Amino acid sequence: MKKIAYFDAAVETPEEIIIAADMIPVRLFGNPTIGIDRANEHVPPTHCVWARNILEQAIKGLDHDIKGVITTHGCDCTNREFDIWLECIKLPFLFFLNAPLKRNETALKFFIKDIKELIFQLEEQFQIKIVSDKIMEAIRKMNQIRNLLRDISDYRAKMILEGSEFHALVKRVQQIDKSEALEILKTKLEVLKNKKSHLDNKLKKILLTGSVIDDTEFIRFLESLGLHIIIDDICIGTKYFWNNIDENGDPIKAIAKYHLSKPIYSTKFPSYERFKILKYFTEKYKVDGVINIAQKFCEPVLYDHPYFSKKFKELEIPYLFVEMEYNRESYKQLTTRFEAFREII
Ligand code: SF4
Repeated sequence: MKKIAYFDAAVETPEEIIIAADMIPVRLFGNPTIGIDRANEHVPPTHCVWARNILEQAIKGLDHDIKGVITTHGCDCTNREFDIWLECIKLPFLFFLNAPLKRNETALKFFIKDIKELIFQLEEQFQIKIVSDKIMEAIRKMNQIRNLLRDISDYRAKMILEGSEFHALVKRVQQIDKSEALEILKTKLEVLKNKKSHLDNKLKKILLTGSVIDDTEFIRFLESLGLHIIIDDICIGTKYFWNNIDENGDPIKAIAKYHLSKPIYSTKFPSYERFKILKYFTEKYKVDGVINIAQKFCEPVLYDHPYFSKKFKELEIPYLFVEMEYNRESYKQLTTRFEAFREII
């Protein structure tokens, strides 16, 4: 089956449209174990390390089944990188989806138009028809996936499921055929229902937020230091499944509405609204502390930090901000900071 990849910092790519086109949506992730050299020929040294890593992989060649890439409006790095992809990535289909910065009625109309443009371009390129019934079918399937992920996520709070295992699961769901994902999630939920709480109660319960954190090894690293991710607001986490898409009415409008109403990312306006969901999570999950991770040069998350620092201080919730390099060696160098944080909470 053909695949369409998406390069997206805020998970606002409508996977349902790709599924309705009988293709598999595949989210692109970084690989912290590779060196970067080719991408450096195209981007300045202050360009986000995560976005640079994906550009490197694309230049070297993506999976052969990937017939196109959708870059969805995220931050300035992803937006400008699309120009570079147009120049140096040889794929039959490259599309920039302009997911709006704002979340009002005008933005909704704008997004609906651009999703329709995406449908038109896919139909033209691949000589297919993407009909409403199939989009609605894909919405129902994705909603089932979201329901299952929400249920499974709760087992982190019940101290039954490691945050790293959950992270790896969400990541996998974003990369495989969704029918297969559905079966994996159903099986996982059944297994979890029969498991008892076994994680050490002395683990510190953490709300994780920040940039795209896509290396499961990083979550394992935090766990090795006694920090359990009980909840998150990241895109390989709750941002991917917190709400559902309305299954009544016009499917394209429903998709656009869904993306404009889910937990906001730092790249969107007003980004400070992000604090509302973080506050809600801290209360609902009674977290011991909040960890905010910025990938090196991730400006949107860097700008959020002073505001978050002030607000969490007001709430007397321990808060740690860390800017890190996108490679595993750098995790070890941060051990002392995470250990010190664990000690004070
Ligand atoms: S990690 Fe930050 S700078 Fe990098 S692509 Fe995501 S939002 Fe943009």
